[in-house]
Amino acid sequence: MTDSASNTTAGWKEGDRRHHWHPFTDHKDLSEKGGSRIITWAEGVYSYDSDGNKILDGMAGLWCVNLGYSRQELVDAAAAQMQELPYYNNFFQCAHPPSIELSQLLSNLSPGNFNQVFFTGSGSEANDTQIRLVRRYWDLMGQPDRMTIIARKNAYHGSTLGGASLGGMDAMHKQMRLPVPGIVHIEQPYQFELGPGLSAEEFGLQQARLLEEKILEIGADKVAAFIGEPVQGAGGVIIPPESYWPEIQRICDEYGILLIADEVITAFGRLGEWFGSSYFGIRPDLISFAKGVTSGYLPLGGALVSDRVAEVIIAKGGEFAHGYTYSGHPAACAVALASLRIMRDEGIVERVKDHTAPYFNKRWASLAEHPIVGEARSLGLVAAIEIVRDKGKRERFHKSLAAGPRCRDICVDNGLVMRAVGDTMIVSPPLIIEDSQIDELVEKAWKCLDLTARSLGEGR
Ligand SMILES: *Cc1c(COP(=O)(O)O)cnc(C)c1O
Repeated sequence: MTDSASNTTAGWKEGDRRHHWHPFTDHKDLSEKGGSRIITWAEGVYSYDSDGNKILDGMAGLWCVNLGYSRQELVDAAAAQMQELPYYNNFFQCAHPPSIELSQLLSNLSPGNFNQVFFTGSGSEANDTQIRLVRRYWDLMGQPDRMTIIARKNAYHGSTLGGASLGGMDAMHKQMRLPVPGIVHIEQPYQFELGPGLSAEEFGLQQARLLEEKILEIGADKVAAFIGEPVQGAGGVIIPPESYWPEIQRICDEYGILLIADEVITAFGRLGEWFGSSYFGIRPDLISFAKGVTSGYLPLGGALVSDRVAEVIIAKGGEFAHGYTYSGHPAACAVALASLRIMRDEGIVERVKDHTAPYFNKRWASLAEHPIVGEARSLGLVAAIEIVRDKGKRERFHKSLAAGPRCRDICVDNGLVMRAVGDTMIVSPPLIIEDSQIDELVEKAWKCLDLTARSLGEGR
């Protein structure tokens, strides 16, 4: 077969099936279901496939297209930068205007104690960078035994070997014999699964204190850092009780361990704040970002480094032996600058906080009344519903029925992207979503839950 696609759905599907190895995909299952849906263009909050179907993108791509698909300014920023300087590196005592301006803007937008930005190409690379920053910091502090990073089960921190090790995904660990040494996991603050019967307050404190237990088990002088997503995303939009993060913060402070907030999803407006840490009152030492920083138009990530860490590594450290060819890629930085300026100048974060999120949260909560929904939860513009067989007993459908993936497939066939994490359905729409589109999202979700219930009928 030639590499010139035949510009038909069948031609693209055939090329895809033969040659294109997809991330996180069971290819046998994909081909049994008739192959990939080919997305050819998108506009606002909608994507369109090669058969002309219009799909409301409830996931903003992969949690990233926060400004929607139609921002000409982002396209123009990339084009202008590609004309001027399509590539240069920031190694060897060089820099270029976009990487400098973006590091300034990010420092201004971030909490006051953050004044250094290390750029990467993705969120996974940002978290790999965090591992190295943390280890370097403690070496330079004369405490090289502080090696262990504590993370959480069912966390997602990316898919490089470092990111997957920090993450707490069993399936990823099993296939790759991870985590790498020096990373351990504690249980997550997932109340629907782990804490029925407790008050939210009690459950939050109980799950946070698992960190203290782990620190004491390992020995405080051996623990380097704790990493967590303010709200776990890929694990199923797990929103911790309000008591959770303050207790985590207290424990990190008490034992002097560094706190890394993985804000790859929660930064830049998703929770109605520039950083999710601000929403929860977390005072991190290190912040990972990616995804929404460019609204997904080009790949970019990075680590925001607080003065506590930067002063030690920069002042005492000599060369920090780490970096990527695309650290601070000029076109990606130009798009990030344009994207963050639009968010700031159009007041998008404030609009999410004052208007869009409250409306969305109210509408989303109505899904809890559906007969197969055990819980509907949301915060800012991320949300989840738990599909159950028996609402009262919170009993799940049998695993073999794959209720979640079944619902996901029904959603896409009915013009809505809603993602399945097991039997938890999740959304994270573009921040620019309008009220009428929120109505459409919730109405479609309800209808698809009806269809899912009917298709599961025999299993009930
Ligand atoms: C997506 C994600 C990552 C990984 O980012 P990539 O750009 O896919 O490498 C890391 N952390 C969180 C919280 C994420 O959601």
